[in-house]
Amino acid sequence: MKKRPLGQNFLIDPGIAQNIIQLAQVQPGEPVVEIGPGKGVLTQLLIQQADSLTAIEIDPKLSRDLQNRFGDTPSFKLVEGDAAKFDYSSLGVGLNIVSNLPYYAATHIMKKLIHYRKHIRSMTLMLQKEVVDRLTAEPGQRAYGSLSVYVQYHCEVQRLLEIPNTAFSPKPKIDSSLVGLTPLPQPRVQVEDPKLFFKMVNSAFLHKRKMLKNNLNDWQHLFTEHNGQARLADIDLSRRGETLSLDEFANLANYLHTQNG
Ligand code: SAM
Repeated sequence: MKKRPLGQNFLIDPGIAQNIIQLAQVQPGEPVVEIGPGKGVLTQLLIQQADSLTAIEIDPKLSRDLQNRFGDTPSFKLVEGDAAKFDYSSLGVGLNIVSNLPYYAATHIMKKLIHYRKHIRSMTLMLQKEVVDRLTAEPGQRAYGSLSVYVQYHCEVQRLLEIPNTAFSPKPKIDSSLVGLTPLPQPRVQVEDPKLFFKMVNSAFLHKRKMLKNNLNDWQHLFTEHNGQARLADIDLSRRGETLSLDEFANLANYLHTQNG
């Protein structure tokens, strides 16, 4: 298949476009940001609902066409640029992000949005199905990993809709899913040192099939032994990272913090 460097698979199913807008639940008066409006299939619906709509599109030709089509609407503002580099705080607070994200940069842009979470009320994002599996995965499930922990730590995550690859042109190889992310006012679990928490979580998933005692060897000096089993705080290190809940990761990280880990 021809390479599409900007992830330009356009939604061509008007029913699904309507569904996405309904599921985004944008309330009157709330600002909306659309990332990668492309040929405007979602934009034309959002513009009818939103009191203000900022659309960020990287492709100069698509940007020109969008500006020609919607530029006369006072509530519409087009930013030609990279959504991964945009300063979302410049748009104020209570932002509702709606996007059919380009696959190549989807996780990167999503993490950027989470970085700006204090400015965001909701994110309604279309992503590769496999990525949404990771965002919604629970401990013990195959897709559960450091991305699940990162996103669930900061956001309420809700799987909203499945979208087959036939809804796009050109048709991508994989199906997509729509996910809703709502930034939490406080992280889901209480963590004394978030940097240490994520360092430890990333280490725990470094080699997914390995036991924690192998993945967490940076903290080997803090391991204890109980009935011949290596332990760290109250966690049995013969477990794998994929079995630990956010609470257990938080307890581990808070223990390491007390030990100047
Ligand atoms: N929203 C349209 C739709 O649903 O049909 C287009 C979606 S298409 C998957 C992704 C869009 O994002 C394309 O228009 C592409 O040019 C744009 N895009 C790709 N990378 C981008 C980036 N870094 N910042 C902003 N827009 C980007």
